[in-house]
Amino acid sequence: QNFGPTDLNEVVTRTMRLIQNDVPAQMELAVQLDLTLPRVDADAEQLKQVLINLVQNAVQAIGGVAGRITVSTVKPDRFGDFRGTPEFVEVHVSDTGPGIPSDQHPHIFVPFFTTKQKGTGLGLAICQRIVKNHGGNISVQSRPGEGCTFVIRMPALPAEQ
Ligand code: ADP
Ligand code: MG
Repeated sequence: QNFGPTDLNEVVTRTMRLIQNDVPAQMELAVQLDLTLPRVDADAEQLKQVLINLVQNAVQAIGGVAGRITVSTVKPDRFGDFRGTPEFVEVHVSDTGPGIPSDQHPHIFVPFFTTKQKGTGLGLAICQRIVKNHGGNISVQSRPGEGCTFVIRMPALPAEQ
């Protein structure tokens, strides 16, 4: 473990550059960064692993058809105002795949839950363990047929003076 003040925009940029070539040509990998994002106390290598797992799932969910994966950094405005640093920051990973049926939502983070023939069911369990270890949480929003969005929420560090 190697925690320290970490710029999530940098982690996202670096990780997406790393995996860009593994994304099939018919899929678009889009990145949207909030450049005013406060930093977090994090192990960048572990967060990189989380992002890789989520994008890999998105690629597999979209499958052989055209689609888009969007990774964005978000400062939820309901947690902060113009006077100070928000309490939390988020990274969203969304895809245009088939989405996740709501009856599966309680299971997808459980180790060894998989709907894939050769899946390990460990990707999301690892993601959740890492994010919780950072004091954050990971959740999913999905309506079947409309893709899904994984939301990683982490405590923000106070802005530097
Ligand atoms: P694995 O990828 O080995 O199946 P994961 O823990 O990464 O294991 O994911 C668990 C399950 O959650 C997947 O089998 C799939 O059913 C569902 N899932 C995860 N990400 C997505 C996604 N982006 N779109 C649709 N379903 C997903
Ligand atoms: Mg997976």
